[in-house]
Amino acid sequence: MSSEATELNRAAFLAGSIAAMSAALPESARGAAPPPSAGPLPSAERLLGQLVAGNKRFVSNDFPAPNKVAEKRELLKEGQAPFAAILGCSDSRVVPNLIFVAGIGDLFVARVAGNYPDDLVVASIEYAIEHLGTRLVLVLGHQNCGAVKAVYSAVKTKEPLPPHLSTIEQLISPGIASVVDAHGSTDQAIEANVRAAVTNLKAERPYLAKGVESGRILVVGGVYQLASGEVKLLD
Ligand SMILES: [Zn+2]
Repeated sequence: MSSEATELNRAAFLAGSIAAMSAALPESARGAAPPPSAGPLPSAERLLGQLVAGNKRFVSNDFPAPNKVAEKRELLKEGQAPFAAILGCSDSRVVPNLIFVAGIGDLFVARVAGNYPDDLVVASIEYAIEHLGTRLVLVLGHQNCGAVKAVYSAVKTKEPLPPHLSTIEQLISPGIASVVDAHGSTDQAIEANVRAAVTNLKAERPYLAKGVESGRILVVGGVYQLASGEVKLLD
């Protein structure tokens, strides 16, 4: 790789500039990234559009050719500027980089059963925001989530989950309690869990809350549809 490309890459990281980073990458290595554009940093809303566009490609089985990966690894060796942070479930069927047709370096991902942010997850996302320039955070739930279903059952039957699963129950149960009380569906509980995670992340001080209040950071929720591959964003 040329020293010029290396310098551009370093400058992109220092500036936290997705556009500059994208310009440094060959088309085939950018995955779902939009064409590079001059000017200010893309808004969090535009980055969400980039995620949605990648998901549409996944739904229609439109994957980029897996070449130029080595070149992108080289570009990324000195740093990263992921354009989105994803909090997803550990479920083997819900793989963020596939779902959004994103390459290495594109997404900062935390995965934990039930996709609820404990302190370690919050700290991870704060790191992405404060040190990597990430401006978009997506909480990604999914249909038929075993963790949420287990917590739903535990709350309903009043039979607590055993250690260490009880940790997940303690985190998730407040957010789905109203759904359980109303004898709601598992799908409703999964959505409620995502909404609770989004609400809590937005309130985390100082970094997330400050970023949301200023409009610099966007925190959204979505539910992955197992059969179609679509991520349905929640209002
Ligand atoms: Zn799950």
